[in-house]
This record gives sequence, C-alpha cells and structure tokens, in this order.
Amino acid sequence: MKLFADLVILNGKIITMDAEQSIADAMAVKHGRIISVGLKSNVEDLVGPDTETIDLNGKTVIPGLIDSHAHFMSMGPSPMLFVDLSEESGVRSISDVQERLKERASQTPKGEWVFGRGEDDTKLEENRHPTRWDLDEASTEHPIIVTFVGGHFWMANSKALELAGVTKDSPDPVGGKFDRDPESGEIIGYLHEKAYDVLRPEGPPVPTREQSYSGTKRILEECPTVGLTCVYDLVDRHEIRAAIDLKNNGELPIRVRMDATIDMVPDLDKVGIYRGFGDDWLRLCGVKFFFDGAISARTAAVSEPYLNKPDFYGVFATTPEIARETLTDAYEKGYRLSAHANGDRAIDLYLDIIEELQTKYPREDPRNRDIHCTVVNPKIIERIKKLGVLPTIFGQYAYYHGDKLIPSFGEKRLEWMFPARSFLDAGVTIAAHSDYPCGPYPPLMAIHALVNRRSKTGNPIGLCQQISVIEALRLYTTNAAYHQFDEDKLGSLEPGKLADFVVLSEDILSVPKENIIDIEVDITVIDGRVVYRKDDAKGG
Ligand SMILES: [Zn+2]
Repeated sequence: MKLFADLVILNGKIITMDAEQSIADAMAVKHGRIISVGLKSNVEDLVGPDTETIDLNGKTVIPGLIDSHAHFMSMGPSPMLFVDLSEESGVRSISDVQERLKERASQTPKGEWVFGRGEDDTKLEENRHPTRWDLDEASTEHPIIVTFVGGHFWMANSKALELAGVTKDSPDPVGGKFDRDPESGEIIGYLHEKAYDVLRPEGPPVPTREQSYSGTKRILEECPTVGLTCVYDLVDRHEIRAAIDLKNNGELPIRVRMDATIDMVPDLDKVGIYRGFGDDWLRLCGVKFFFDGAISARTAAVSEPYLNKPDFYGVFATTPEIARETLTDAYEKGYRLSAHANGDRAIDLYLDIIEELQTKYPREDPRNRDIHCTVVNPKIIERIKKLGVLPTIFGQYAYYHGDKLIPSFGEKRLEWMFPARSFLDAGVTIAAHSDYPCGPYPPLMAIHALVNRRSKTGNPIGLCQQISVIEALRLYTTNAAYHQFDEDKLGSLEPGKLADFVVLSEDILSVPKENIIDIEVDITVIDGRVVYRKDDAKGG
C-alpha cells in the first residue's frame, strides 16, 4: 500500500533554515512530521485522496517561530487579577491611572488589595511614575500595588505601606530599595526588587485553577496569529498545572517549554524531576534565577552610571553569596541554569559562578543560559564563548523601547547592548525573546528590530549591531531550538522534524527591510495541523 501525506504544500518559497540554507518549493507532512521537502516533483506522488493540499501561489514559508523567553502563562489570568494600566489599554496620564484603579477599588471590599500592571512612566503625560500620594487619590481604604511594565519595580499607596509597617525609619531590605524624598526622607511609594516582598510577603495575587486554565488558553491562542508555534516561558506551579490541564484536554494551543523559578528546585528535586521532563508539546528545560534589574526600567546593574542619573548603577536582586549558594545547589542537583543577568556587573558575577560550577561539576553539554545578557563588552563576549553560555537577547527592544533607552545609555553604549552582530561574529549561539509583557510579542517586530536597529521614531540604536534577515530568523528558529534541546525536532524544515511552519503575506527575504514589520502571518501550522488562517480570522 502506498503511503500518502496528510498535508502537502506546493508552489511556495520555503525557507528551510537547514544547514545549507536551502529554499524549497514543496513540502509533505505525515503524522505531524515532515516527510519530504524539495521540488514539487518530489511530493506530487505523496498526494492521495485524503491529502489536504495548500497551493501557496509563490508565498514564503518559514519554520514556526520560537520565543526564547517570556511570561505568557503568568499573563493569561492577569486581566482577572490586575487592572490593565498599559499604554495599549489607553492609559495616557496619572489621572487615567487613578481613575482605573478607583473603579476597581469601588468593586472591591474595603481592606482588600487592588493590583495594577503595565504602568510605563515614559508613556504617561507627566513622564513620571505615580507616587503613593497619587495612588491615594484612587483609594486610601484599599492597599494598592502597581507593577511597572518591565517588572522589578512597583508603586504602592499609603495604605499598602501602612499595612506592612513601612515608615521613613524603615531600612531598605537586602536586595531591594525604597525610594525616598531627598529632603524629608519620606518613602514615596516606589519599590525596587525585594522591597516588594516587604509589602507582599505572600507574593503576587494567585489565580484559581479555572482562571489559570481559561486565561492561559486565551493568551496562547494568540501566539499562532503572529507566527509563534512555541514559547519558552518562565513558570511557577500554577502555570505548570494550567499547561498540563490544557494538554490533558487536548487544548494546549502551541508548544511550550518551561524554566521553573529556582525556588521550586527543592520540590522538583524531591520527586526527581529535572530537565527533559515532558514531551514535544510541553517540557521542563531549566530553572531561572534573577540577578539584577530591568532594561526597560533602566535598573540593570551596570558598571557605568546611567547618563540621566549620574550616581545610579542599577540594582541587584540578590547578593553574590545568595546567588552562589542558590545556583550551586541547583546545578549540583543536575539542573540547567537560565539566569536573568542584564547589566555587565550582573553578567560578570553570573559568569564567575558559572565558571566555578562548570569546573566543579563538569557536565557533557551544560547549555547554561543568560536571559537578556544586554549590556556587554568584548571581554564578556569572549568569556561567554569560552564557557559555552547561551545568551537570549531582547528581540524587539531596539525598535519598541529604543527611544527611551537613549537618554539613559546614549548612542555609544547602545552599540554594546543586545549586540546580535558581535555575538554571532564570535560564534555564540544566541536566541532572542520578547520577555512579554515587558514588550510586545510579535516576532516579526523583533526580526524587524534586529535587522534595522532603529527605534519607532527612526533613531539609530547601535546600527553596527544590525544582522541579516536570515540571521534574525535563525535566532527565532534553529538557535532557539538549540536553547531548549530541540535541535533535532524543531527550528528547520527538514524530513523527520516536527511540522511547525508559517506562511507569510510577503517574502521576508526580498521586501525592503524597513517594511519587515508590516509582514503579516497568513497561515500557521503546528504538528502538521493548520491552527490559524488569516482569512478565517477576518471572516473571509
Ligand atoms: Zn523575563
């Protein structure tokens, strides 16, 4: 009996991303895997009576795109738990912030918490964060905490400070900081890093199992509409459970890879779970530790002060002692490390520890990652290459956050931030990520940013770090697959690999590079199944 394909695509320009950079015009899929890629004549024989055939009419196909670090699943139930204060939600001023929070407070019993998220001072008319006194206008009877869009920084009202017993005499906690009025010494409600834990030792609000399920499903269903077929997410136990619930019901919309927060190591270790646990849909890959602040908040731990804050060198979220102890414990137990280290001071500390650990506990294929690895220098790149550390860098930041980084870093230092060109030239296997919700997640915006290195308004953001379209695609395909130990299954369109691919509205290799951002996703296929079609979405 002849073997026929389940799905055949014909007359396309298929950018396979294989080692030879082959371009094919047809591809056949069976049982979710690619069985043939090449010329139309190679696959025609595989078309049987039940084969679905898609004529691409010359359209371009790329492998399914992988976001190498984000927080999709924690954002899933977020609308049920947090007031959305993002620019995208229409918030333009501090009075908008107050109004939104006031509305939620009016529906919340007195004394209970009100949470906001997505605040971005650079997108507000006043060009500053709301203080505790601004937030008091929303309520003095509900404790309020607002999370900055880039995380790592919060704003609290007076009630929240009062409940925690924080006054102007309170010291800063280890690994955290309360901003104070320079004259009166009064705490103004701005919280850095571990200062959050003083107000909320129980952590952020926790969704119910049902909230996690429906929220996670909703957000992951958005991914194929922008060409994402896999996301590598940071997760806690609620998010892991939601993903498993979805998978068990056959409703997990895309593939998910996970870094668990490092505080889960004792529990994971107790039941013997570590890297590799899971399957092609859902798998644990590593554990994540935080070293320092955020780039979008301009709080990364850097060795040169921020240009617009002369004495400010960013903040650490840990101490060298705690970092060494925590990472050693995890590494010694066999976990693969994914650490958030943004500024050069944080990266150097992380690399010091990695060097010690990789020497003391040698491992065949460690693939330890640096998430963000933003502010670097030639020496750091050399160390990273030598240690085999895998950086995943911000994809879309030069475009999306570029303008607000200029006053803090200046044009010269931006040439050594998310330096894709320098990493690739040094032979370092970088991937890229959105860090959603710290920035938007469409990967084509990121590819646009990596290729052009210009901000939304056209300012150059380290033009010397531009990379080619194929190189940028590699960050979201083959290199990303390598970061998650999937290089034999994902990242390129070759026989034997999983059939995840995307049909684009334009040829990404020939459109003017300034127009990459306008390319749309026409069709997304995961595991050989069409999961998104633009025309259907438009009701066409
Ligand atoms: Zn992150």
